[in-house]
Amino acid sequence: MSVPADVLVPFEGAPGRALMLGHVHPDADVLGTLLGLGLGLEARGWRVAYGGPHPVPGVLAFLPGADRYRVLTALEDRWDVAVLTDCPNPDRTEGLIDGARAAAGVVVNIDHHPDNRRYGHVNWVEPSAAATGEMVYRLVCRLGLPVTPAIATNLFTAIHTDTGSFRYSNVTPETFRIASELTAAGADPSAVASALYERRSPDSLRWLGEVLARVRVSEDGRLAWLSLPAGFVPEGFVEAEELVNYPRSIDSVRVACLLRARGSQVKVSLRAKGDVDVSRIAAQFGGGGHVNAAGCTLEGSLPDAERQVLGAVRATLDAR
Ligand code: AMP
Ligand code: MN
Ligand code: MN
Repeated sequence: MSVPADVLVPFEGAPGRALMLGHVHPDADVLGTLLGLGLGLEARGWRVAYGGPHPVPGVLAFLPGADRYRVLTALEDRWDVAVLTDCPNPDRTEGLIDGARAAAGVVVNIDHHPDNRRYGHVNWVEPSAAATGEMVYRLVCRLGLPVTPAIATNLFTAIHTDTGSFRYSNVTPETFRIASELTAAGADPSAVASALYERRSPDSLRWLGEVLARVRVSEDGRLAWLSLPAGFVPEGFVEAEELVNYPRSIDSVRVACLLRARGSQVKVSLRAKGDVDVSRIAAQFGGGGHVNAAGCTLEGSLPDAERQVLGAVRATLDAR
């Protein structure tokens, strides 16, 4: 993977001020890349601020530097560069992109979603990358920034989570090359896996049992889904668990769906196996994502969203 020259330019002059701007409900790919690049720039004398519309979820508080990440409602300072990572659509900043455009000399957009809207002054979109973490690692190296254990841990975790612990179809030889170099630089795979998956409370296992009892499978076995009414289990628990992976793990299932009600909205996660393209289903409802992992948000009740989304999934499966 080579880094385009125009992506290097904003970081090559004298150290300046950078804003690392996250997307809604930040995950490890966005946080790990913003922190990884930002900490590298800081080591070269840059002043860096980190933030976005929502806070760091508890399960990712272990990422080195996560305590620096702020919830932002408005952008008042000036920056030389604003960097967005893993963010295909400027709407996913809840309006902060407008402030970033006004307050920063250059907006840099680094992402691996194929449906990226290219909203930056500089846009680097690499759909073959399993995670934005792979891209930012290459960028950090090209810029000659140090890969400290803290930076390596952030980038390794970004790749670890977006590949489902190196299990999904997006994994390539490049993924392992980069993971290997990050491990040599001080990322600890077992510590990362333990922080992500072995910090459950006793209550979490009880909630998991209650949630799994709600998994439904279609008669033909190709579709499985899980619908969670608002408040059925705590939000932090849902954020910490990739619950959609349980219906996806059934052998016959081609498409798995998690629907969870939140206020007047229903957040939908779609996962597919093989060549079923769920990003096109999510796009029908104003969402997006990758071929095998996508999402959307619907206004209205849970039964209504279920009817609409499962109907669209069935239509896609029937058309094959
Ligand atoms: P999730 O199911 O939330 O883990 O998201 C899976 C993928 O779909 C990620 O790559 C997200 O960027 C994308 N995605 C999720 N929700 C939305 C949405 N409302 N609009 C656009 N993309 C989304
Ligand atoms: Mn993300
Ligand atoms: Mn990602």
